[in-house]
Amino acid sequence: MSDQRIAIYPGSFDPLTLGHDDIVRRSLRLVDRVLVAIAGTATQMKDSTFSVDERVQVTQEVYADEPRVEVVPFEGLLVDFARQRGARLIVRGLRAVSDFEYEFQMALMNRSLWPEIEVIFMAPASSYTFLSSSLVREVAHLGGDVSAFVPAPVLRELVRVYGPAASGA
Ligand code: ADP
Repeated sequence: MSDQRIAIYPGSFDPLTLGHDDIVRRSLRLVDRVLVAIAGTATQMKDSTFSVDERVQVTQEVYADEPRVEVVPFEGLLVDFARQRGARLIVRGLRAVSDFEYEFQMALMNRSLWPEIEVIFMAPASSYTFLSSSLVREVAHLGGDVSAFVPAPVLRELVRVYGPAASGA
């Protein structure tokens, strides 16, 4: 196994927002590679707008020029996937206290499943603390401009699904 430090950043990313991207870029300062792992059939039954394949494709496009970021789909137990991929660090973003309880539970559960895993929580730039994928989808759905909240390839997909108003047109 290589001695590179690999972090895994798991989530639904439905779709990837600039808040997620902020966490990816902060993680790149700490590790050699970041594996963005896009959950297929989620543990929580969230409504998804984009299929896993669509989410993987658009997220790969976002990081096409960043060789240290790999974007992959995953299903099943996160710690099993992390272990297979040689990642011993899970990264999660914390926006507010409301994220904390669930994240803390998950972190301790994951560590009891695989004691060698570490979990770190990162805070995004304060301007992104209000951002969530579901809010972006809702605003786009209602005809609002979400161009300030998502990377360009994601905006293109939102326009495709919800129409040109999503980009402020
Ligand atoms: P999940 O369904 O696993 O919560 P999400 O795609 O909603 O997947 O989020 C993935 C991770 O990114 C979570 O740790 C979440 O807290 C974090 N996250 C989501 N939005 C932001 C944001 N705006 N700033 C920082 N972290 C975020």
